Amino acid sequence: QRCKIHMSSLYRPVTVTPPPPKAAMEKASGGTKDEQESLSKSLKLLIVNGIIGPSSCIGAYHLLPIGLKAMEKLSQLVDNHMLMANCQKIQMPILTSASLWKTTGRLEECKPELMRVIDRHSKEFLLSPTHEEAICDLIKNPSLSYKQLPQRLYQITEKFRDEKRPRFGLLRGRQFLMKDLYTFDANLEAAEQTYSEINEVYSKLLNSLGLKWIQALGSTGTIGGHKSHEFHVLSEIGEDSILHCSSCNEVFNADLLQLGIQKEDKLKATASGSGTVSSLLSQSIPKCINCGSATLSSSKCVEVGHSFLLGTKYTKPLAAIYINKENKKIPLEMGCYGLGVSRLLAASVEVKSSSDEIRWPLRIAPYLVSIIPPKQGSKEDPLGTQLAVQIYEALKKILPTDVIYDDRINMTIGKRVKDSKKLGIPFVVVCGQSVHDPLGALMEFHDFNADSVSLEYSDKISKY
Ligand code: ATP
Ligand code: MG
Ligand code: MG
Ligand code: MG
Repeated sequence: QRCKIHMSSLYRPVTVTPPPPKAAMEKASGGTKDEQESLSKSLKLLIVNGIIGPSSCIGAYHLLPIGLKAMEKLSQLVDNHMLMANCQKIQMPILTSASLWKTTGRLEECKPELMRVIDRHSKEFLLSPTHEEAICDLIKNPSLSYKQLPQRLYQITEKFRDEKRPRFGLLRGRQFLMKDLYTFDANLEAAEQTYSEINEVYSKLLNSLGLKWIQALGSTGTIGGHKSHEFHVLSEIGEDSILHCSSCNEVFNADLLQLGIQKEDKLKATASGSGTVSSLLSQSIPKCINCGSATLSSSKCVEVGHSFLLGTKYTKPLAAIYINKENKKIPLEMGCYGLGVSRLLAASVEVKSSSDEIRWPLRIAPYLVSIIPPKQGSKEDPLGTQLAVQIYEALKKILPTDVIYDDRINMTIGKRVKDSKKLGIPFVVVCGQSVHDPLGALMEFHDFNADSVSLEYSDKISKY
């Protein structure tokens, strides 16, 4: 009895009372009209179904039991993919000394987005938005030998950015979960090899979630380095525009175009003393950054991952070196690979769900099966209930943490099925409802886009 996972005991504050949780939505969006517009389908679904909860801080959310379970599944999936590329998991402190960021010049450069903390001794720290500086400080070791390379270290931790416009819930938070991998190689050639290996693993990860995604050339921005590639999930809610050139097949972030125009504009403005960026952007027809053709098509996208080939941008100023065969000190060739875990979860919900029912990628569905016994006192009870308990016990042996028993026996079966569907539980077993046998069980599989994975699981269930 004690080990049962019961629907009634799940902490889902919002769904306990049926009326739409208007107050909760207002709290999530900050309440003002501008912020009301920052509600997305995923944010609404996640709040209305008690998956996440708004907090006292705009852009930060409570993860409730179901939400945390999905996030942990996604983190585990990310771990498995990192393992494929021989990466080792670590955990760095959330706080990074501001002095490290001063050394690389980013304390000034990233100023508006930094969340700063001052301790009782007036020392300044950052609630880290990313960890390039911190990892260089960690890896820095005057006796690190070429024999110890490459190093591939990653973590999955909360990051903090004081976003100008936090919105769409987990899609753009001020606190969010990121997987950040940092790699260190002996030379640029090896670092390039690492870069393509990790990008390959990102492709596998996004494929395993059954998402429509694209890889695009990105700008190196304030992080810097030789080159960068972004991974985008296609969605109208996305804040990025990705351009595809039908002449040469180049795919790139429209940011790159604007950066190019801005540079051009600066030159022109200095030459003629006139011209603004915005006037140029309306005047000029966007051209492919690779072949110059104007045959570009654009898609709205959500950036979920970003890889950078950094070179020695951080390792040089922070003195992260290794000793080569000739006993010389050489700066490490670095790469960094960010993946927005919480953003990826929300983006998956955003693109897969209907307007009132969540659909998860099957691999991160918090529960796979819900077992629904008959309504108390109905003609199917108590035999149908006994069957439900038997099925539950048997399924728990195969899927220990993925089966939930819907013990709300005062509710009709229809309402409980609807609730399972809203939560995105893909398999619902209704007991005492089979057409052929009033005491049999009917299993429904809710419309998923998950091909082979769904077969694997349905196979397990049908074996029972
Ligand atoms: P964006 O362009 O959306 O602001 P970014 O380019 O600033 O993102 P990166 O510095 O490349 O982000 O960070 C790596 C990853 O972290 C991003 O690809 C994204 O998935 C995730 N991420 C960044 N900012 C946020 C945020 N505010 N909320 C949730 N995830 C985020
Ligand atoms: Mg950003
Ligand atoms: Mg970006
Ligand atoms: Mg980025």
